Amino acid sequence: MTEEFIPVNKPLITAEDVAHVSAAMEASWISGEGVFVKEFEEKFSEVVGRRHGISVSNGTVAIDLLIDALGIGPGDEVILPTFTIISCLSQILRAGAKPVFVDSDPETWNMNVDQAISLVSKKTKLIIAVHIYGLPVDMDRLVEFANNQGILLIEDAAEAHGLKYRERITGSFGVASTFSFYANKNITTGEGGIIVTDDDKLAERLRISKNLGFQPERRFVHSQNGWNARMSSLQAALGTSQINRLSEIVEKRKALGKIYSEAFAHLQSVTLPVSNTEYAENNYWVFGLVLNNSERFDARGAMSALEELGVGTRPFFYPLHLQPLLKNFGLENQPSHPVAENLGEMGFYIPNGLAMTDSEVSKVVDSVIKTID
Ligand SMILES: *Cc1c(COP(=O)(O)O)cnc(C)c1O
Repeated sequence: MTEEFIPVNKPLITAEDVAHVSAAMEASWISGEGVFVKEFEEKFSEVVGRRHGISVSNGTVAIDLLIDALGIGPGDEVILPTFTIISCLSQILRAGAKPVFVDSDPETWNMNVDQAISLVSKKTKLIIAVHIYGLPVDMDRLVEFANNQGILLIEDAAEAHGLKYRERITGSFGVASTFSFYANKNITTGEGGIIVTDDDKLAERLRISKNLGFQPERRFVHSQNGWNARMSSLQAALGTSQINRLSEIVEKRKALGKIYSEAFAHLQSVTLPVSNTEYAENNYWVFGLVLNNSERFDARGAMSALEELGVGTRPFFYPLHLQPLLKNFGLENQPSHPVAENLGEMGFYIPNGLAMTDSEVSKVVDSVIKTID
């Protein structure tokens, strides 16, 4: 008998989730208008304690719209981690602004806050804090620094639904925060995203720009360019159902992270994610492994060995400062960021989907040990 392949992520969709989506369909609310979207936005912004939630079609466009609405343009510099997804960079480039990349902290894999602060110049207009793999960035100093200098700060909390930084929930820092609800996130709507903020003017602008730039008072009249970035009612209904399980989901990922951490603690060949820092606990949104001995094999080698054993994996981010597309913008000459470069080459993550069974978890543990011990 051939055993089933264990994918790196398999989302958990419950009967209640299905019932919520059916309810939207039965009520004929299927577009981006109506009560289901509104309910989701209200519920989600309540979770993070923000006044406004502007739902959108994905987490990338959430960042695009936000950077646009903040007025980032030519001559501006934006500080962001290099160890993150392209979504954090695209709109900076499109707007003609200059990205300034920050290396990772070797322990937390998050942006090195000291380096971020040291890279601020007169042109710095925005800092993007991205919580990586379920562990929050050290926010206190960033918030204080940004406030003192009059620099905008936003959070990309796509990997950080329901996490705490000290006593405060992630997604509540800075002028606005974005989330993704892609299939592998803590809350999923399949595809989806949201921007949360307390700023009334910013929220209004975002509502207009996500909806083709329609003026609220006169449809089909446009004084501002926009996108169609609406989330549909079916997605929103799924999201509302998932919000009800958020703390359960966060706890489940944490528990699975503990199981893996204990099972791999004896391995000399890998560095594991830190379980906590002085300011936060790791929720292990994904469970990453960083290989220590590049002479034996890099992440690619380990990943293909695991694939043969029926275990799905994903490589870590490829650092942004090395992306070939920077050449198209004349930005290819970047200083090196050795920590992020090593993560990109030696790091990968293993299955931790919410629908995993105990026997699947055991199989992953055995296969990892067999492969890299
Ligand atoms: C997933 C993710 C995004 C992008 O979200 P999409 O919904 O897939 O567009 C942005 N930032 C981070 C850090 C992510 O993990």
